[in-house]
Amino acid sequence: MSDTPMMDELEKGPWPSFVREIRRAGKQSATARDLINILELSYKDKKTHWKHGGVVGVRGYGAGVIGRYVDDPVQFPGVAHFHTVRVNQTSGFVYNTKGLGEIMDIWDKRGSGMTNMHGSTGDLVLLGTTSEQLDPIFTDISQKGWDLGGSGSDLRTPSCCLGPARCEYACIDTLAITRECTNYYQDELHRPAFPYKFKIKVAGCSNDCVASIARSDLSIIGTWKDDIRIDQDEIANYVKGGGIDIMKEVVMMCPTQCIDFDGTKMEIDNSNCVHCMHCINKLTKALRVGTDQGATILLGAKAPIVEGAMLASVIVPFMKLEEPFENLKELIEALWEVWDEDGKNKERIGEFMERMGKGEFVEAVGEQLADGECGIEMTSQIDMINHPRENPYIFYDEYLEEEG
Ligand code: SF4
Ligand code: SF4
Repeated sequence: MSDTPMMDELEKGPWPSFVREIRRAGKQSATARDLINILELSYKDKKTHWKHGGVVGVRGYGAGVIGRYVDDPVQFPGVAHFHTVRVNQTSGFVYNTKGLGEIMDIWDKRGSGMTNMHGSTGDLVLLGTTSEQLDPIFTDISQKGWDLGGSGSDLRTPSCCLGPARCEYACIDTLAITRECTNYYQDELHRPAFPYKFKIKVAGCSNDCVASIARSDLSIIGTWKDDIRIDQDEIANYVKGGGIDIMKEVVMMCPTQCIDFDGTKMEIDNSNCVHCMHCINKLTKALRVGTDQGATILLGAKAPIVEGAMLASVIVPFMKLEEPFENLKELIEALWEVWDEDGKNKERIGEFMERMGKGEFVEAVGEQLADGECGIEMTSQIDMINHPRENPYIFYDEYLEEEG
């Protein structure tokens, strides 16, 4: 019988198996072989055998490496150290094979050969190496033009959808925004100094292929503010082709019911459109996003760690985004200023905003922006109230004193 029967179970079936992939890596890596062994033991004991054993990193950086050790290094010497190296991915995950080949050669030489493409922040994640190899890995990847990403309480590696590189829906240059934020905020990315992590994700339109609305503290989503462009000839072609029931699949599914269709001609009440992209996704050839393009900025999404999962809330409904994105940078720095000042340790900016109250938070950010040049006016609005107040208790002392 095999030494790892539970791992064997995970290899069965026609679907992809991470065990199969690790075993393939194990043909040339003792780390990969011991990874399977320790996983088997964890499944058997129903507990993890990984532990944090102190901070590890590379010289000059406070982030980019996650230290991981096993609790029984004698039995599992291959994974006695199993540190993760986060390499800053390219914007939109656009690589060439030469670049990828160079990274893989370095990793085969100095690590386990196993990767995670990509981690949920977006980095190109190299899984499993020893403390002694960290500085040499950093030197090797730096010489090839790569850098480490973020980790810990810092700006995490900004990430984006492929946007204008391949997608006709992109209303903003997601790649340029991501690149600019990455290059401009190198210090914040490599030297953790925030209350907690801060993720920036950029989506070219509200299809949000990077799930920024659920997975980033600052979500930048491309949109437009004029009218959806309609090609009536193409609408007629859709009707003639019969491949789609426009009434049922488009008009009736518009969330605000703002589409009018008489069987041949389509009209949209753009003042009531919430730019959800549904009709444009369905009638690709006939409908296009507007031409007055910019972005909606949302804040506060996170996974369920301290307070439970949160989706992002809109803080700026529309802003133009053009290189060098000074207005965006001014906004980001104002957000950091307010959060840094009063945020608690391990409190994400969304949780902080909830604790402070959205209205008060927005006013505080607005004060930070007042002297700037970005032209964004942040004021609290009625839409920011989640529900009416639950506590009707009112202090009358002030009124009584005034009345005297
Ligand atoms: Fe295209 Fe929009 Fe998806 Fe970006 S988010 S890839 S622009 S559909
Ligand atoms: Fe309706 Fe969405 Fe199309 Fe706007 S984008 S018209 S809200 S389906």
